[in-house]
Amino acid sequence: MAELANLNRERLLERFLRYVKVNTTANAETDEYPSSQGQWELGKIVLGELQELGAEDAHVDDYGLVWGMIPGNVEGASTIAWNSHLDTSPETTGDNVKPQVIESYEGGDIPLPGDESKIITVAESPELKELIGKTLITTDGTTLLGGDDKAGIAIIMEAANYLMEHPEIPHGPIRILFTCDEEIGRGVNHVDIEKVGAVAAYTLDGGGAGDIDVETFSADGLTVKVKGVNIHPSIAKDRMVNALRAAGAFLERLPADQAPETTEDRAGFIHPYVLDGGVAEVTIKILLRDFDTAQLEVKADLVRGIASQVEQDYPGISIDVDHQKQYRNMADGLPKEPRAVEFAKQAHDQLNLEYRLSSIRGGTDGSMLTEKGLPTPNLSSGQHTQHSPLEWACLDEMIQQGQVLIQTAVIWGQN
Ligand SMILES: [Zn+2]
Repeated sequence: MAELANLNRERLLERFLRYVKVNTTANAETDEYPSSQGQWELGKIVLGELQELGAEDAHVDDYGLVWGMIPGNVEGASTIAWNSHLDTSPETTGDNVKPQVIESYEGGDIPLPGDESKIITVAESPELKELIGKTLITTDGTTLLGGDDKAGIAIIMEAANYLMEHPEIPHGPIRILFTCDEEIGRGVNHVDIEKVGAVAAYTLDGGGAGDIDVETFSADGLTVKVKGVNIHPSIAKDRMVNALRAAGAFLERLPADQAPETTEDRAGFIHPYVLDGGVAEVTIKILLRDFDTAQLEVKADLVRGIASQVEQDYPGISIDVDHQKQYRNMADGLPKEPRAVEFAKQAHDQLNLEYRLSSIRGGTDGSMLTEKGLPTPNLSSGQHTQHSPLEWACLDEMIQQGQVLIQTAVIWGQN
C-alpha cells in the first residue's frame, strides 16, 4: 500500500477561501472571453501562486486561461495534465461570497446565517451522514459557494505545491491548466491541445470523493424559429398568423416523458429552456441530451417532425429548426488512452480508498478535451449541491482527492 501524501490542510483551506471570495460568475449574455472580469482577477492570483511555488512556464494567456508546468523528475515519463475551471455558474450569484467554515461537523441540518429560509438538510444531502467530524465549508445562504470548481483549483494547487516541496516523490511532467467559462459551454474554446502536450488529463470537477466519471452525456442544441404574420389586431381577420399560438402547440407536443424532469439514469431528454418572442416570431431553444450519441439525431428528427405537423395545423406558420453540435460522451474517446482511467483506479486501490466508475448526466470540460483527442476522465473534488445557495464543500474530501491526484501522477511516472 502506498503512503497518503501529508497535504497541508491549513494552506489548502486558505487557498479555497481566497478563491471563492473572487466573483467569477460566467455571463452567457456577452461574447467577450472570458465573460467576466473576475476570471482575470482569479487567474492573476493563481498565477502569482504558481510562480511562488516554482511552477515552470506559468502564464495567463490572451484568453484568461492559466497555464503552468510541474517539471518531472523521472526520465522519459509521459506528460499528464490537471484541469479545473475558474468561472462559476450564472444560476446563482457569486458576488460577495462569505464562506462559513464548520470545523468538526456534528451532524444534523445546517442553517445558513445570511438567510433564514436557507437550510442545508440531511434529507436533501444524505451524504452529510458520512461526514460527521469533518470540516465543511458553506455559504451564508445569499450566494453560491463556488466549490464548483474552486475546490478543483485549490486541490490542484496544493498537490502541485506538495510535489514541488517533495522532490523525492517520482513523477513525470504535469501540465496545469485552469480554463474559463466552462459553465456556459465555452471552457475549451481556446484550449490548444498541442500546447497542453499531454497524453491524458484529469478534470477535478466532480462531486464528493471517490468518483471517476468515465461517461458524460452527448449534447446538441436546437434553435427553433416559429414565424407568423403580425398586423394590427383591428384589421387582423384572416390576415394575422400568431406565432405564439403555434409555439404553444409546438411545446405542448414535445414528448413529456423525454424531459429532464421525468427521466433519470441512462435516459436522455429533449429540454426546451428558452422561449422568447411575440406574434411575428418566437424563438425556442432546446437541449438534446443522450449517452448514446446516435440518439441525438433521432431526437432532432422527432422535433423536426413535430415542427412540420404544427406548420400543417397552423396555415401561414413556418418553423425553422437549426441543429448545433455541442459536446460528445467522453466514453467515445477514452479508449484511445486506457491508462487514463486505469491509473486513477490503481491510485485509489494503492491508497486503500474506494472508487466508483460513474456516468454524469451532463458534460465537463473533459468531454470536450476527450473529443479533441486528449482523453480526460473527471475526478471528485469535494463539491456538493453545486450552483445553489445551499452549496457546500468538504475539506477532508478535497485532501483525499489531492492524495489521489498525487498517487495517479506517481503511477504515470512508473510507466
Ligand atoms: Zn464545474
